[in-house]
Amino acid sequence: MRRLSLFAASLAALAISAAFLLRFSRAKPESLLIVNARIADGTGAPLSKGSVRVANGRIAAIGELKPEPGETTLDARGMVLAPGFIDLHNHSDDTLAKDLAAETQLSQGITTLVVGADGDSPWPLQSWMQTMEEHPAALNVGLFAGHATIRKLVMGDDFKRTATEAEIQRMQEKMREAMQQGALGLSSGLEYEVGSYASTDEVVALAKVAAEDGGFYMTHIRDEADKAFEALKEEIAIGERAHIPVEHSHIKLGTVGVQGKAAEYIKVIEEARKRGVDFLADCYPYDAWHSNLKVVVPDKQYKNAKSVGAALAAYGGGSHLLITDYAPNPSYEGRSIADLAKANNISEVEMYIQLIRGEDAAHSETEVIGQSMLESDIKAFYQQPWVMVVSDGGIGSKHPRGAGTFPRVLGLYAREKHWLTLPEAIRKMTSLPAQRLGWKDRGVLKQGAFADLVLFDPETVKDRSTFTDPEALSQGVEKVWVQGVLMWDSGKPTAARPGHVLGRRGVILSAAN
Ligand SMILES: [Zn+2]
Repeated sequence: MRRLSLFAASLAALAISAAFLLRFSRAKPESLLIVNARIADGTGAPLSKGSVRVANGRIAAIGELKPEPGETTLDARGMVLAPGFIDLHNHSDDTLAKDLAAETQLSQGITTLVVGADGDSPWPLQSWMQTMEEHPAALNVGLFAGHATIRKLVMGDDFKRTATEAEIQRMQEKMREAMQQGALGLSSGLEYEVGSYASTDEVVALAKVAAEDGGFYMTHIRDEADKAFEALKEEIAIGERAHIPVEHSHIKLGTVGVQGKAAEYIKVIEEARKRGVDFLADCYPYDAWHSNLKVVVPDKQYKNAKSVGAALAAYGGGSHLLITDYAPNPSYEGRSIADLAKANNISEVEMYIQLIRGEDAAHSETEVIGQSMLESDIKAFYQQPWVMVVSDGGIGSKHPRGAGTFPRVLGLYAREKHWLTLPEAIRKMTSLPAQRLGWKDRGVLKQGAFADLVLFDPETVKDRSTFTDPEALSQGVEKVWVQGVLMWDSGKPTAARPGHVLGRRGVILSAAN
């Protein structure tokens, strides 16, 4: 059975490589010389002036370069040229295949996005990857294996308990399969329903399998609210016990009880890093999160007035919780729990319980945006050298982070607020995620690296997406190249589709097989 599926897999791989060669020869870019740009190489080094030659999808040369006969020259005066941005936590798992042009992503300068975050991933990984190779997108993609996805495969609907030894072994087999198919590592979402019942031991067992093959562990930890410190300690323990690099997803202190404690949180992480834990984190540039309504109540007593009352208070009251998706009554969308309670003449607690009863009856999931993080905490996190930029959004996101994250950090945090220098902000979008991924020829602007590039105006780059218009395109990103192919040109996408599926060490999976 196993041998048969391996055989089928190699046949599929052969077919994919043939398709790759065809497409590559069609899309072979000509030599391009970009002159007069201010070059940010992605390492955080100061900007330098010079020219960059792009040929055959790679950076052929950097420095004082003269155009060769017949070579296209682009004068990039006033612009910054940087490696393309890598979004390590993107939720375009289902939406990318329907929007291969990925305008909201390219307009931010993203050239690679990674899906399968928070414990949920496509399955099997290989069929998702194959779809993306047969119908390539404008940008590159990578994929995690989701802990909750694997847990549900093994436990079915009987997941509201700890797993048995035998079940954990079966999960490890699934994890091994996913790594063979090219997973970047294991993602988890221990605050969410399926993952929340897992013991630490279960997660360690799966993380060990990912570690054996050079993967890393990326986690939405068990609690980002009142128990954020306990959850952080569990995460560090998982990293130490499984000997695996850790990526802390969307670092935050999300309730009144922990707000303002960034310095203490950072201290715990610094101590772990000193002990040798390979710990990096990421952060999106907004003081509001986007999730499902049930995560608000940590003890899962969604219809218990006392639990709900305490939970709403922890977030600063129902005015901080805005409903974005409510299938039983779409007219509730865009309104806060406080507002809905008032309109229905009931308390906020009663309103919350009514929303839950409604979603349970309709078997739907209510989505909510919660405004509960302090700007001072976000600033403290962004100023750590081990914190990178991610969107935690993606195509079709109802939170503005899906379309605005990267230009927002460049425009608001670097240019306007001076929280970061421009080269440092760029490092957090390029070489730092590449370091976590173990990719040596992306995320840096150096000779021989892939020509994933973004050219932007540092004076005007800015996000335009808002909570009421979450998909508004960003401004200031002039051009984006993926493997040397121009994908974004003066505010518009081009028609080429050079995107590949990338695996560990940055291998192009179709070409490597
Ligand atoms: Zn998450």
